[in-house]
Amino acid sequence: VTSTGLTTFNPRWIRVNTLKSSLDEVLRSPTFREFDEASGMTDLFFFNTVQKHYHRRARLLPDIFAIHPSHDVVSSELYKTGAIILQSAASCLPAIMLNPPVGATVVDGCAAPGNKTTHLAALVGSTGRVFAVERDRRRAEVLEKMTAKAGAEGIVRVLKATDFTTIGEGHEAWEAARYLLLDPSCSGSGILQRIDWDISKLSLPCVPERGSRSTSSSSRKRKRGGLDEGNNAASSSGQQQQPVDAEVLEHDATKEGRLQSLADFQLAIVLHAFSFPNATRITYSTCSIHAEENEGVVVRALSSEIARARGWTVQSREENPLADWYRRGMLQEFSSLDADDEERARVAEGCVRVNRTDSLGGGFFVVCFVRKAASEELRL
Ligand code: SAM
Repeated sequence: VTSTGLTTFNPRWIRVNTLKSSLDEVLRSPTFREFDEASGMTDLFFFNTVQKHYHRRARLLPDIFAIHPSHDVVSSELYKTGAIILQSAASCLPAIMLNPPVGATVVDGCAAPGNKTTHLAALVGSTGRVFAVERDRRRAEVLEKMTAKAGAEGIVRVLKATDFTTIGEGHEAWEAARYLLLDPSCSGSGILQRIDWDISKLSLPCVPERGSRSTSSSSRKRKRGGLDEGNNAASSSGQQQQPVDAEVLEHDATKEGRLQSLADFQLAIVLHAFSFPNATRITYSTCSIHAEENEGVVVRALSSEIARARGWTVQSREENPLADWYRRGMLQEFSSLDADDEERARVAEGCVRVNRTDSLGGGFFVVCFVRKAASEELRL
């Protein structure tokens, strides 16, 4: 139970690194061979923690399973050798949604520390290529270490201290990229067990420095913060020093401004990706539960000139590997999209949301943009 009274199931999710092992091999290893499959996620928490169970959602999350967080896996050989990677299920969704084929060339535009980069490497395999772009030199070094540990050095090329928005004509990634994964810095409001929700003071690694790379905020006033869970009605006044829930943000103009400048930065990343000449699929994701950073960015991206000129749209739910996931984009957030009701509903359904209470390891948002004409012209 969190400080806000929100009960969360927080299992430890494990991604099998298929560059080094397989799910069967991992489950047969000394670390996991005594584990039995639990029928439901809640079983993991009702069982005595001494008992060993794992949980899978095989259709949604191939090569990924959950265990009770009390089990020590960090000291296992599997972890030390990079055969398993501790990554929340939610954070695995973008690579699954992007679904690059074996041998594809992918750009990971905001890559460190590299969870999604190494996931992409496992999907494209030894005949594929992943350009992992990271602006922050120190974080890029972590990315290099993670890439090496995952055995993905031959697949991933780390573009160290490189701003994604500077990649243009003449850069080898510019022409080569068919698939792009964008997971830019965000408010992190979906991250579990965050006590201090005052995002104007956050020093989290995934939050950019204040004032960096943001265009000026349009300071759009919102009545609702776009939170689709919880109903904590705390007032913002005088609560800065107290643990507060994200819902407080919706009443605080300063924080709204901060969210808006994050959204402006995120939009700039998406619009730059739209201009890659041979791109056919782009995922955009955040670990935020705020509509400004999620559906709001999608609306603004689709309304841009570059989206119209190059034919970018949102991939329909039924075309996507995450079609089975039940929680989709919030339809009301698309009311300003210049489209008819049917198209608005299609776009909302194309988006995937994860709530903090969904047991996938935190609140999350992901959408896949597609350029139909291009995908017919180009394969790989
Ligand atoms: N995808 C990563 C993962 O799964 O491990 C997490 C990415 S984190 C949310 C965002 C990263 O983007 C940070 O490391 C940040 O330094 C980087 N970043 C922010 N703006 C960038 C830019 N313009 N170009 C490249 N990297 C950027």
